[in-house]
Amino acid sequence: MPERPTQLTGALAAEASRLLACVHCGLCLEACPTYVQTGDENDGPRGRIYLMRAVGEGRLALASETFTRHIDRCLGCRACEGACPAGVEYGHLLEAARADVAAGGRKAGWTSRALRFALRHVWSHPARLRAAFALARLLRDSRLPNLLLSTKLSRLLPARVELSLALLEGSRASNGEGAREETAATSVEAEVALLFEGCVTEGLFARVNRATARVLEANGCGVKSPGGQVCCGALHAHAGDLEGARKLARRNVEAFETEGRAPVVTNAGGCGAMLVSYAHLLAGEEEYAARARDFSSRVRDVSQQLEATGVRSAGPGAGEVKATYDASCHLLHGQKAQAEPLRVLGRVAGLELVPLEGADVCCGGAGVYNLLETEMSSRVLAEKLKHVGETGAGVLATGNPGCHMQLAAGARLAGMKLRVVHPVELLDESYRRAGLYRKR
Ligand code: SF4
Ligand code: SF4
Repeated sequence: MPERPTQLTGALAAEASRLLACVHCGLCLEACPTYVQTGDENDGPRGRIYLMRAVGEGRLALASETFTRHIDRCLGCRACEGACPAGVEYGHLLEAARADVAAGGRKAGWTSRALRFALRHVWSHPARLRAAFALARLLRDSRLPNLLLSTKLSRLLPARVELSLALLEGSRASNGEGAREETAATSVEAEVALLFEGCVTEGLFARVNRATARVLEANGCGVKSPGGQVCCGALHAHAGDLEGARKLARRNVEAFETEGRAPVVTNAGGCGAMLVSYAHLLAGEEEYAARARDFSSRVRDVSQQLEATGVRSAGPGAGEVKATYDASCHLLHGQKAQAEPLRVLGRVAGLELVPLEGADVCCGGAGVYNLLETEMSSRVLAEKLKHVGETGAGVLATGNPGCHMQLAAGARLAGMKLRVVHPVELLDESYRRAGLYRKR
């Protein structure tokens, strides 16, 4: 007889069927980076699902240390979903658990309170967010963070401040170049894609958005960037602010309705997974449910779009470049883009691509997890950097700005010489060498 839910409460109540889908087999445990680190059942997906059920059924207090500690310590990487034979959608369970914790009025530390303030009063307001990123760029481009890190004076600062400086510095182009004002020299536009710019990408990695547009155009796909688009809401959802995420989702659904059913293209794994989940997030809203389903069905990572349009290779190569690829968890498990980014890299002239052990394991960045759970994040990151070092590659490609900053910051603080890039940047550079672009 199928198991029957007992009385569940809160956001977890809406996820009763997902909670009960877990058959407790434990096949997900070894895929879970936090379980691998601590060996504690409650730091693994199965244990966390048990705890969620206990809270949902009122057998465990929502504000109890047992619950909040292990839910906080989850990376939200969704590697457990990929390993689960029962198809448990753990990502939705985690969001519901975090929404219940946020609504449960637990006493949060100053970092969580600062995050909540920033999400509500900055991240939800596009003009304020643009101003915040402009300030961040000013600081980064002043080279002060670089100076503090180079002279090791940053060690005198609190660990989280030093990490923040390294993360900011990690967003700077490793070749020192900003966003180029170029376009594809020839383009036959068989299709138009709508670029989702992403707040962090446009704020700190505008060069990646421009490279994405050029590469798509060079492969015959026109690019438009709809006005009115806002942050995807991923940070809100991960912090348990589902209403904040819904507000942003509604605005994005509206902004991308102007061009019919054109694909919505993103180059950020974290944003893409969130955009794909709008169908779930807005499922209960009469006005938006069908529109959100349509929107989510059109979302593609840039590598998936290139797969659809076809991707050309153009020489000459840049000499001996040995590179490796680290998968963004949300790109892999949220957008299911596994082989496509590797095929994009395979089209970069002159690139020797070497496999990375544990490429499908989280880097420990996980949004702002690295600043909230710094100790666990650095343990997960150290494992990743060890494997990167073993490849002997001088270039690491990854398709998400959060992972990009985490890996570049980790390499910097560990004294490793490593260039971190988006896969599309490498393809863009090869097209430039081949003369496929002209000035705007
Ligand atoms: S989301 Fe990642 S860290 Fe969290 S339980 Fe699943 S595998 Fe573990
Ligand atoms: S693999 Fe799936 S069904 Fe098995 S314990 Fe993990 S979440 Fe539950």
